[in-house]
Amino acid sequence: NTARAAPDSLTVDHVNHADKELRRYARLHGPESVKDGLRDLREEFFPELRRIFFEREAAGVGRVLRKFLAELSNRYEGEKRSRSALDFCDLTEKTVQLLRTAPHVRQELKEKFEYILVDEFQDTNRLQKSLIDLLRSDENLFVVGDARQSIYGFRDADLEVFLQHREEVARENGVVIRLDSNFRTRPEIIDFINHVFKGVSGGNGQVERSELVAASRFNEKRNPSVELILTKGSSVDEARRLEAATLAGRIHDIVEKKEVRITRSGGPREGTPVSYGDVAVLLRSTADIKLYERALAELSIPFFVTRGRGLYNAREITDLMNFLKVIDNPLDEIKLAAVLRSPFVGVTDECLFWLAHYGKYRNGTGKEMFHTIGQADEIPEIEPHHRDRLVRFAGQLNLFRELRGRLSTGSLMDVIIDKTDFDTRMLALPSGRQKYANIRKVVELARSLEKKGFSGLNEFFRVISDLRFMETRESEAPTDVEKSDVVKLMTIHAAKGLEFPVVALADLNRLRRNRSDDLIFSKKTGLGFRVLNTVTRDPETTCSYSQAVEDQRQKDLEEMGRVFYVALTRAEEHLLLSGALGPGSRGEWIKVLAERLGLPLESMDMPESITFGDNGCKLRIVTDGVKHKTSHAFRKLPAPDRQKILDGKKLELPPGAPQSAEDVLSFLRVKPRIGSGGNYVYSVTEIMSFLLCPRLYYLGHYLGLPSMRADSVEETAVDRREHDEIRRDVLGSIVHAVLERYHPDFTEPQLRQSVLQAFNEELIGEPAQEQVDLVTQWVMGFYSGPVGRAVKDSRKVERELPFVFKHRGNPIRGTIDLLFSPDGSDWHLVDYKSSSVMPKEVQGYEFQMRLYSLAVEAIYGRKPLKATLFFIVPKEAVPVDISSIAMKDLEDKLESFFNAQKGGAFPERKGPHCDWCGYRGYCEKG
Ligand code: SF4
Repeated sequence: NTARAAPDSLTVDHVNHADKELRRYARLHGPESVKDGLRDLREEFFPELRRIFFEREAAGVGRVLRKFLAELSNRYEGEKRSRSALDFCDLTEKTVQLLRTAPHVRQELKEKFEYILVDEFQDTNRLQKSLIDLLRSDENLFVVGDARQSIYGFRDADLEVFLQHREEVARENGVVIRLDSNFRTRPEIIDFINHVFKGVSGGNGQVERSELVAASRFNEKRNPSVELILTKGSSVDEARRLEAATLAGRIHDIVEKKEVRITRSGGPREGTPVSYGDVAVLLRSTADIKLYERALAELSIPFFVTRGRGLYNAREITDLMNFLKVIDNPLDEIKLAAVLRSPFVGVTDECLFWLAHYGKYRNGTGKEMFHTIGQADEIPEIEPHHRDRLVRFAGQLNLFRELRGRLSTGSLMDVIIDKTDFDTRMLALPSGRQKYANIRKVVELARSLEKKGFSGLNEFFRVISDLRFMETRESEAPTDVEKSDVVKLMTIHAAKGLEFPVVALADLNRLRRNRSDDLIFSKKTGLGFRVLNTVTRDPETTCSYSQAVEDQRQKDLEEMGRVFYVALTRAEEHLLLSGALGPGSRGEWIKVLAERLGLPLESMDMPESITFGDNGCKLRIVTDGVKHKTSHAFRKLPAPDRQKILDGKKLELPPGAPQSAEDVLSFLRVKPRIGSGGNYVYSVTEIMSFLLCPRLYYLGHYLGLPSMRADSVEETAVDRREHDEIRRDVLGSIVHAVLERYHPDFTEPQLRQSVLQAFNEELIGEPAQEQVDLVTQWVMGFYSGPVGRAVKDSRKVERELPFVFKHRGNPIRGTIDLLFSPDGSDWHLVDYKSSSVMPKEVQGYEFQMRLYSLAVEAIYGRKPLKATLFFIVPKEAVPVDISSIAMKDLEDKLESFFNAQKGGAFPERKGPHCDWCGYRGYCEKG
């Protein structure tokens, strides 16, 4: 009203001026009471007045925006019509339309269903409800749902639909059956959940207030079933690292010290201790999952990360499907471009541009990309190694197209995977085993479809498309690791419908994500948007925008409460909750808990336990940091037994105890990294470790035993003396990260910013100024030297280049620090060294460089011209011999490595490196 009443002559200048004046007066003039009044006016009312003013200013923009959206919608509808296509929403919308306008169709369908049962009804939206109403009759609908578990608002689930339907059923004399009995969870955990959610509604004030009732029998238990871990650090990052480490420590103790046993009465596991496979760590978001992974790995706790994405939408499956589609129709330019960009070929956008450009304009034929791939050699703008890849791909594509009519789809996929090394490439990526398992699963699907009579690529595409379209809930293929005794890390959404004996709900202080979009839509308040202040050029909030944001905020908070409820109710026997209290960090869940339990979050002087609920249940509070350094049952064995295990001999242990080395290692949860399958991809680091000492490789890489030292054999006393706070290897990875993203046009402030970002990503909190200076100087030192200057002037530069290549059938993986070509054809290979190994001690690294040289030759078909080790601290470049004679030495060494894998001989090689070897304790004579 004020806006409407405001004179039209009121402009943005007036508003800005008024704001400025109010600020000045509030600061300078009059008695305190007047100053306070002006301050209140400015802080409380003026923002509202601004919003009203800008709402009026935005009226014109709103009209244009609505017109634009209507036009967009019309064009989209027109495009769908012209292609006879339906999108996901159309499937329900058009069906509802059909049922409404064609009574005979509706009647025919209605008669088909004697009864209708809808599960998970709390996740239904209004359109789906209309569809159900059109198909049901008065007495044949049965719905099941739990309003407290409605957590799919982001997928358009509308809880109101569920609540209204429940009212309708009651009003129309239907039957509403309450199911409050819980058969899953121990009574103490149920008491805890009831206590936390007492009087809390899950949304719009009418969602369940009733309490859960424990309905299963559990044996008595002495220790509390609910634990709260709270850690505090000087920074948010430090507190979170402590939280992850303390949580991992508790999981370790719970399992290793058999602190929690299965207490469900009469069950097959009654009385047995829980194992790692019984534990699930649930997180609201996977953004910081690495923290928890590291903490678990630090204690040698086996774990597996369950990703939420469906199998058929996984990146590797999309790539494989695109390849099959290109084989079927190579003129599908979009699919072809996707394959060329994928790991199958791996060319850049620039390369695609030149390929398309050549076909359309250069050779004058207007040909599609498919016809020009084989002529990539004639396109000078494409880099030579990309030309090679394209020509190779053209040959493969022709072969696969020939095979298409002769092989079944499953066999064709096998040939593609084999000829392109797709499986090896996937294995070399993070979560490689999962990716590999996914690929195998889809190949198996093709085979099983063929057995059922499906044939040809098109039928297979249709099935895959249906599976994707229906958003199948098929989970990703479980790997051997996932099925075995490992802790599962997953999001709460992925855990819905599942249950675990021990649930650890981590990251309690995560804050709700604030929405910062300039345009927002709320079903309640409509479209809201910000407008530009034409004077300050800042975005200004309007009334409709702030109402839409507030409505959304409220909905988000309600849904977060329900997500919390879903997480807590996954636990059967034991519930761990953990949160970190850093400065400025106070998430919504930790606040709710503190309020319900009466915990003084400001003080870390917490009691060891508190009592909650009507039944006087206890909650244990853990506030200390990390007490668990890497420790291992292996070290506790008598020395002769340790040696026998390492030699693969039988132990004379009491009956019932593990007998063979393999038994003992599996008993100790140490799994050899190289199994019987032939898919293992050896890393350059592993091979280097073997050359230093075969026994060191065997213990650390083959058996995967934890090192007794946090630092590596390369690190010297100098490192620890110089950089007490941050280990040299951590500084080394920071330098690598900065060098990777370095751009020749970087100014010094930009470089510092990049250094700070790298510290941040390493999660080591706020670095000291000297550390930032040190890393900045190191990077500048490299780029001011002859090698760095040559890089700056080069035509081609590859940084942190990951590779996998096969040497005599054995896949080897690694990452090349820097590869550059001043003239665009000859490569120069560089590896930075940030450890304080002196340039004269380079023998071990020479081998590494030769191996990289072999990789470059395998990838680009051309041996590098030069190889240089660059020692960052003394700023010294050391050339490495990669002549044919030197490469022969490499061949011999690789042969000894692969022979050892077959023969199983890993003798000790003692030397000065033993002083710093992390396996010295395992190595009896070391
Ligand atoms: S202590 Fe020496 S001999 Fe033993 S594993 Fe380590 S490096 Fe090899």
